[in-house]
Parts: sequence; structure tokens; C-alpha cells
Amino acid sequence: MSTILVIGGGIAGLTAAIEAAETGYDVIIVEKNPYLGGRVAQLRKYFPKLCPPYCGLEIFFKRIKSNPKVKIFTMAEVVSIEGEAGNFDVTIKINPRYVNDNCTACNECVEVCPVERPNEFNFGMDKTKAIYLPHEMAFPLKYVIDPEYCKKDECKACLSACKYSAIDFNMEPKTMKVNVSSIVVATGWKPYDASNLDNLLPEHPDVITNMMMERLAAYNGPTKGKIVRPSDGKEIESIAFVQCAGSRDENHLPYCSAVCCLATLKQATYVREQYPDAKVYIFYIDIRALGRYEDFFAKVQADENVVLIKGKVAKIEESEDGLIVIAEDTATGVKTRQKVDMVVLATGMQPSSSEYKIPGIEYDDYGFVVPKDGIIAAGVARKPADVASCNEDATGAALKAIQVVRRR
Ligand SMILES: Cc1cc2nc3c(=O)[nH]c(=O)nc-3n(C[C@H](O)[C@H](O)[C@H](O)COP(=O)(O)OP(=O)(O)OC[C@H]3O[C@@H](n4cnc5c(N)ncnc54)[C@H](O)[C@@H]3O)c2cc1C
Repeated sequence: MSTILVIGGGIAGLTAAIEAAETGYDVIIVEKNPYLGGRVAQLRKYFPKLCPPYCGLEIFFKRIKSNPKVKIFTMAEVVSIEGEAGNFDVTIKINPRYVNDNCTACNECVEVCPVERPNEFNFGMDKTKAIYLPHEMAFPLKYVIDPEYCKKDECKACLSACKYSAIDFNMEPKTMKVNVSSIVVATGWKPYDASNLDNLLPEHPDVITNMMMERLAAYNGPTKGKIVRPSDGKEIESIAFVQCAGSRDENHLPYCSAVCCLATLKQATYVREQYPDAKVYIFYIDIRALGRYEDFFAKVQADENVVLIKGKVAKIEESEDGLIVIAEDTATGVKTRQKVDMVVLATGMQPSSSEYKIPGIEYDDYGFVVPKDGIIAAGVARKPADVASCNEDATGAALKAIQVVRRR
């Protein structure tokens, strides 16, 4: 009767869960993906230290694994919430993974699977088999079958190859009911859909989003970390970053996502690390690098191959062997036409609720969670923020969740 439910197993949800559990409270994490870690699992490096984000996640996984107070349900979603603070009845649906706990991640199933599907972890830039490991560091380290692509009984190649009887095509969705005292909603965000930005040539293969850039630069990404032009694999001589691509714009996301400037500065270092002669052009409205991030901005700005142009990009055009970024440089009043090999659109963070709203949760006009008694929002589900701020926010959310339990 003193359980705290955490919806979303990204960095905010993990923080809230472990902080509450280590204080002695029972916690249930409900995560819709087959793995924990959220968007942070897709990042190549963290600004400003430029260290690998997975180290931090692994520490959380270790704390969670060794804490019997935390129960994790992946591939799970909250279907309904009834009741009030101190006494919520929650229905959870668990979708079938078609792979059971016998899985040893030996990969033999993947080797025999004849079907491919787009790899959503890498934003469709490569493919996985219909049976796959979501990514090589996935926690839990368990394979999953995509029922949209798997031929199941018509094929059975993986079933025959698996020595551990880990594959079960007969798994069905399950529902379960839990009673909890408080709920932390940490459902995070998804990248703003770049296909809405018609003037920025979003369908062109060499115009990618900032999250695609994270995967392109990742050692376990589609190019094993080599940043190359997607259409032809050409090495990069010049690249443009378009800030506020759909952000601070009444027609798209009216708010600032708080991290895109820093993400671009970080990604400029990815390019410069690989290409000592490459030119990086950053088109921006204002660079938002507040507080301790100012030093990081200054460091990247000091690189003479990183050119910052204050001006909103009006258009991207295709040219012979490249792209042309058209903007007005507001410092000089001159209209610029910069030719580059490829473009990265710094798209903002849109709350996950834009895709699916959890019944019983209230949202504001943008889709951020509105807290109410017993229901606490944490991380980007509450407002756009970087990881350190999400950690702090979620620690506060754990305290608020505990207060409701103690009031019971
Ligand atoms: C290009 C880019 C680069 C960035 N780089 C950095 C960086 O270097 N350093 C930094 O500090 N920050 C960075 N950020 C910001 C960072 O990604 C966020 O701060 C962080 O992801 C927020 O964590 P979260 O847990 O709130 O959300 P998420 O990471 O989105 O996690 C939310 C989790 O909830 C799950 N979920 C969603 N809906 C449901 C549902 N209905 N039911 C169950 N589960 C659900 C999701 O599957 C996900 O696992 C970057 C952002 C961008 C766009």
C-alpha cells in the first residue's frame, strides 16, 4: 500500500525511482520501450564534459539491479488511473516481447532471421532483423521480436536456432492492476517532426536532425561513429547547423527546448574531432548557454573553423554536389548563401504526450504534464531540460512522491 509508480524509465524516471527506493519505498517502473535509459541511451557524448552518457546510466542500472524495492516492467504502458492521492488504482498493459528470461543474448537468432526492419534506435538510418537487441548496451540485455515484421509460425528460423528455449510466439499482452500512493510521470520527449519544416528540405538525405547526428557519431551507430554525408558516404568538408529548427516558432514549437544550442556546440566538436580541416557553420537566433555552460560555449567558439552566424535560416536548397543554406546575417544585414556538404537541423524536444496521452494525467497546451495532488511530473515531461536538471528535478519529484505516501 506504500508503493510509488514511476511512468517512464529515462534518466528522470530512473532517478526518481532509485532515490525513492533507496529511502525504503517500494517502486514500480513502467517503461514502454524494451529497454531503460530513454533518449540518453542514444546520445554519443554529454555536454559539457564530453563524456559517454552510458557510464551514468550504468551506475543507475547497477543501483536498480541491486535494490529489491524496484520492480521494472518494460514494454509496458499505463492504461488507466483511478482514485486519488494516497490511493490510486492503476491498470498496466504489458506487451509481449516474444523472448523470455532464458535469453542469453547469444545472437544466434539474429544470424538466422531472414527479415529486416528499420532500426528506430538509429532513426531508420540502418536496419535490424525482426528479432533484435534494441542496442548493444540495452538493459535488460534481452532480445525482442517486432510482430509487424516477424513471420512467426511461417518461418520459425529463430525458434530452431535458439538453444535456450527463449523464444515464445504464443506470448499475449497482459494487463495487471496495482494500487499505488503516488505517481511520478517521467515520460520525456520525442524529437520534433522535421518533416513539418518544408523550407528546410527535410526529406533530403543530407539534411538530418540533431538526434540523427548523435547516432551518426556513435560508435554503435549506423556508420560505427564515422560522420559521413548520408547520401554518398563522402567525408565532411563543411557542415551547417540550423538552430531553432521549428522551435520558438508559433507555427511549430513556440517554446525554447533549452538544450539545442548546447547539443549543436557539442556536435560541432564531434565533426572537428574527426575532420581537422572541416568548416562548421552554426546559424542561430541567440545562443542559449546559461550558467556554467558559458565556458563550454566560449571553448567551442574559440575554434576558428567554427563560424557562428546570427540569422534565422530562411531556406535550404539543393545544389550541385551539396546544399545551400540561405539566411540573412543580422550582424551585417547581408543575405548569405552558404554551400555545405550536409545540414543538421537542431529540432527541439516535444513532450511524449504529443504521441500518446495517459488517461488520468492532465497536460498543458504544449503537452507538458500538469501536476496534481499525488501526481508529480519529472524531467522533460514537466519542461525542457538537460540531464543534470532532470536529475535534480526527479530527486525533488521522489521527495514529493514520498510525502504523499507518508500522508496516507
Ligand atoms: C540532440 C540532443 C542532444 C542532447 N544532448 C545532451 C547532452 O549532451 N547533455 C545533456 O545534459 N542533455 C542532453 N540532451 C537532453 C537530454 O536528452 C534530456 O535532458 C533527457 O533525455 C531527459 O530525460 P527524461 O527522462 O526526462 O526523458 P526521456 O529521455 O525521453 O525518457 C523518457 C522515457 O519515458 C518512456 N515513455 C514515454 N512515454 C511513455 C509512456 N506512455 N509509458 C511508459 N513509458 C513512456 C520513454 O520510452 C523513455 O524511456 C540532448 C537533447 C537533444 C535533443
